[in-house]
Amino acid sequence: FEGMTIVELAKRTGVSIRHLQEIIVNVGEKVDSEFDPLSIDIAELVSMEVGVNVRRQHSDEGAVLQPRPAVVTVMGHVDHGKTSLLDALRQTSVAAKEAGGITQHLGAFVVEMPSGASITFLDTPGHAAFSAMRARGAAVTDIVVLVVAADDGVMPQTLEAMAHAQVANVPIVVAINKCDKLSADPERVRIQLGTEGLLLEDLGGDVQVVQVSAKTKLGLDKLEEALLLQAEIMDLKARIDGPSQAYVVEARLDRGRGPLATAIVKSGTLVCGQYIVVGSEWGRIRSIRDMLGRATSSGKPAMPVEIEGLKGLPMAGDDVVVVDSEERARMLSNGRKKKLEKDRLLKASEERIEIEDTSE
Ligand code: GDP
Ligand code: MG
Repeated sequence: FEGMTIVELAKRTGVSIRHLQEIIVNVGEKVDSEFDPLSIDIAELVSMEVGVNVRRQHSDEGAVLQPRPAVVTVMGHVDHGKTSLLDALRQTSVAAKEAGGITQHLGAFVVEMPSGASITFLDTPGHAAFSAMRARGAAVTDIVVLVVAADDGVMPQTLEAMAHAQVANVPIVVAINKCDKLSADPERVRIQLGTEGLLLEDLGGDVQVVQVSAKTKLGLDKLEEALLLQAEIMDLKARIDGPSQAYVVEARLDRGRGPLATAIVKSGTLVCGQYIVVGSEWGRIRSIRDMLGRATSSGKPAMPVEIEGLKGLPMAGDDVVVVDSEERARMLSNGRKKKLEKDRLLKASEERIEIEDTSE
């Protein structure tokens, strides 16, 4: 939609040029010529008014792309050790060691290797979070760590997690956890996963399997190596310069600092002072903090950052977009709020109709 003219938008939406011009005037913008390219913000607003869905996609064409760290989600059956594994991984970080092991709870953390490479982990395990984010269009995760307890083996939620990753086309790295236990039987887990159609490396496939223990920290380095290798194969790159696009992974209200959103930058660089729209909320970035709570002036791709300065509380999965001015930010936020309300009413009325239909 970026750079589309009114003429093109009319063609795409089937709405008359005159009507589109009216809408643009109504949202407080000037109409120059129907052949002038619209800004992406206006295009989004107009599209919402005429009931067409837009998905923002900044073009990376011609931009300089640089390697970026992988963003990893941990999934698996309940009690197989997802939380324990994340905690153990967090403690392996150089930064965490420097900070005396104290890291903020941000909804994401970065493990920095002595080699300088790093991996970003999302802190909310579970396929519910993963699916909710994807349903909202946020493809944040690059790799899924599928945790399977070596004593318990493949369970229903193991298969669910596997299916979610496969549907989303996100590669899996298997972590067979609890290998410290006497009752551990990693070989059985391998066979079970193979039977379920996962193409494990040991059997000629490309899914890596690592044996770990979150309790004794056995194999954590191997897991990190496997993730780095997977990331290398995927050749993950992002645009560093230019307007940033990011996704919220967690948001909370702080009594003193107001709404705080943890976001993972997808592309570009997020900078203090910028006007942003996050989901249907807006604000001006007052401060950006890293996972150790240190103030920083900008956020780069795959970096989890805590953003302060929003007027309201966004939701996990919301997109963060940078706009030119406060006016634009308010306008877009209002437009999105109206759209949400419209969708909500529509859904409510559909439900009412369904109830009426079945009330004979
Ligand atoms: P989650 O539900 O997947 O997040 O699992 P948790 O991390 O909460 O772990 C469930 C239970 O397994 C807890 O009692 C943990 O202490 C235990 N646990 C997790 N990892 C290991 C491990 O590597 N070895 C052993 N022996 N116990 C573990
Ligand atoms: Mg847990």
